[in-house]
Parts: sequence; C-alpha cells; structure tokens
Amino acid sequence: MRLDTLASARSLLSLSLHKFDPMPIRAYAAQSPSSPLAPHSISRREPTASDVEIDILYCGVCHSDLHFARNEWGFSQYPIVPGHEILGRVTRVGARVTKFAVGDLAAVGCLVDSCRSCPHCARGLEQYCTGGAIFTYNSPDKHLGGVTYGGYSEKVVVDEAYTLRVPSNLNPAAAAPLLCAGITTWSPLKHWKAGPGTKVGIVGLGGLGHMGVKFARALGAHTVLFTTSPSKVEDGLRLGAHEVVLSKDAAAMTKHAASFDLIIDTVSADHSLDALLAMVKLDGTVCMVGVPPLPQKVAAFSVIMPRRNLAGSGIGGIQETQEMLDFCGTHNIACEVELIRMDEINSAYERMLRSDVKYRFVIDMQSLKG
Ligand code: NAP
Ligand code: ZN
Ligand code: ZN
Repeated sequence: MRLDTLASARSLLSLSLHKFDPMPIRAYAAQSPSSPLAPHSISRREPTASDVEIDILYCGVCHSDLHFARNEWGFSQYPIVPGHEILGRVTRVGARVTKFAVGDLAAVGCLVDSCRSCPHCARGLEQYCTGGAIFTYNSPDKHLGGVTYGGYSEKVVVDEAYTLRVPSNLNPAAAAPLLCAGITTWSPLKHWKAGPGTKVGIVGLGGLGHMGVKFARALGAHTVLFTTSPSKVEDGLRLGAHEVVLSKDAAAMTKHAASFDLIIDTVSADHSLDALLAMVKLDGTVCMVGVPPLPQKVAAFSVIMPRRNLAGSGIGGIQETQEMLDFCGTHNIACEVELIRMDEINSAYERMLRSDVKYRFVIDMQSLKG
C-alpha cells in the first residue's frame, strides 16, 4: 500500500473512531466478589440504525444481581455492573427504529441480543438461544468488546428488537421489576397452564414470589403461598394467595401433600426439594426458578412415587415478555416496590439476604445522576 493511501486510511479510521467514540457514563460496579458496589465509569455505544438509547429512570434489584456481584455462580467477570430490570425514557433512536420515538417509555430485561436464527430464537425462546444469548450484563459485548453492563447506570443502548413497550397506565417504578421478576414467574405459569381448576404453589415471598402469587391468582388458579416468614402471611393473602402455608409447620405442609398441579420454587438458598415434591400430585411439576449457588439433593423416591416432574425455567422470550407486560397493563398489575438511592444498594443486598424486602427494591436512578 502506498504511504499516502495508508495515511488517508489512518485519518479516515481516526475520524470514524472519533465519530463513534463510546460515551462514558456513570454506573455502579463490583470490582471483585468481596468488594461492595461502588461508583464506576463505563461506556455505551453510539446508537446504530436499529438501536434505542434509553435514559434509565428505574432499575429493579434482582437476587441474581447479588449472586453475580459476589460471584456465587462462579462465572462473573469484573468489574460487573448488575441490573436487568430497566425502565427509562428514549433519548435517541437509530434511523431504522420503528417501535419507539424519542420521549417514549421503554424497558429492557435480561436479554439484549441473541443469534436470531437458531430453532429456539425462531420459537421466541431467545433466552435459550443455542447460538449464544447476550444477557444484559456479564455477556460478551460484540459492539465495544469486553462484557455487557447492566442497568445500575445512567443510560443503556439496546437493539429495538430486544426493547419492550411499557403500558402507560402502570407506575414506571413499579413496572421495572416485571422485566425479570415478572417474566420469570409468568413464563412457567403459562407453560404449565396455570388457570381455573389448577392448584398452584409459589415458594418464597420475595421479588419473584410476590409476582408469582399475583399472576397465579390473576390467571385463575387456586393459589397457595409457601413462606418461611410468619410476618409475610397477611401480605401473601393481600397479594392474592387463597392460602398461605408456613413451610416450617410440618402439620400444615402435610395437609397439602400430593395436591398441587404446579409449584414454582423461587428460593435462592439451600432448601429441601423433597419437601416440595411431596406437595405435588401424580404428574404434577415442581419448577425451579430460584438458583441456589450449591447443588440441591433430591431423593429418587420423591419423583418416582407417584410419578412427578422436577423442572426448571429461565426468564422468558421477548414476545412473551411483551405479552406479560400487556397483560399487566390490562389488569393493572405491577410490583410492590421500595425505592432506594443508588448509594443504598449494599445495604439493600444485606436486607435481601435476610428475606427483608417488601417486595422488590427499585433504584431511583436520578440518585446516580445527582
Ligand atoms: P428474593 O427477593 O431474595 O426472594 C427469595 C425468597 O426466598 C425470600 O424472600 C424468602 O421468602 C425465600 N427464602 C430465602 N432463603 C430461603 C431459605 N433458605 N429457605 C427457604 N426459603 C428461603 O429473591 P428473588 O429476586 O425473588 O430471586 C429468587 C431466586 O431466583 C434467586 O436465586 C435468583 O437468582 C433467581 N432468579 C432466577 C431467574 C430465572 O430465570 N430462573 C430469574 C430471576 C431470578 P420467604 O421469606 O417467603 O420464605
Ligand atoms: Zn433477575
Ligand atoms: Zn438463537
């Protein structure tokens, strides 16, 4: 290559690099499994033709954020910026964007991309993409290199195909946790056909569990909450459970033995799966959505006598998430939230570990912008 051509190629490159300089923005990150979350600067890409730039108003705090920040599942990459219950206002749209205009409310959940061509993507099950789903944080970032960064930040830039519309009648702060807590309980309830004539149990009244209770009730199932916390019994009933069972009360548990069609298990720590399997009837299902860091044991007889299913479910696909949000709009369903400031996140994590959340922390991102 001639020198002058090389020089002009270089200057073109530097021009384009300048034009697409990533935007530095404020965020909160954990730098290691043992360090608290603290202020950190990250970059967001310039919106491409199909991208939406969102100024984040609210971000829910999922127990998965805590598992990731502390590397409890063993594959966190640092620094890590958690947050996948994102709701905000559109500030810029790419030339080909049709779903959103500047000023619209928009939401982003756990997924920001996938291969779009594998059989699972073709079925709207992008969360199980075999070509590699790109999650909102801790996934490879094909635009900027490194890993994706989540919603504990000022802004996010996401392809419109992975961006959700939020019903205007919902309180935005209370709608944010629908993007993970909502869809993660909605998806298995729909898959296993919770509805009139079915008996559904929800285990754990936390972020996921309280939405599980609301959805199971709204779908018409006989809804039973299992909780370890006597202080949550009244709330369980208020949120929609027909019955609340204290899971440490052996006699109360025995009364429900072998009677459920479906149990959604949202527990985030060690617990007995055998005790839950004993609650479901022939061909009934215990579906794990909680992800305790350590493997949980199951006695073979728990699934053999009578024939029972132990299953799992991960978040939900994009179209299904939109359907869930639209259902929430129609039925006026949202989360019970406690608003916190960004700098309160570490104490919020400690409270979450003590099961002391009513029932989802949501960060008011204005507090990060100052
Ligand atoms: P959370 O708000 O902390 O709620 C978990 C609830 O489980 C607690 O409120 C508590 O309810 C109960 N619990 C906690 N420790 C327990 C123990 N040792 N034994 C029995 N019950 C216990 O958490 P979350 O945000 O709902 O998340 C729950 C789990 O789901 C986490 O592991 C998270 O990573 C996972 N998750 C999975 C997916 C997925 O796609 N599968 C998506 C999101 C989150 P009570 O006080 O009522 O007993
Ligand atoms: Zn989550
Ligand atoms: Zn795919």
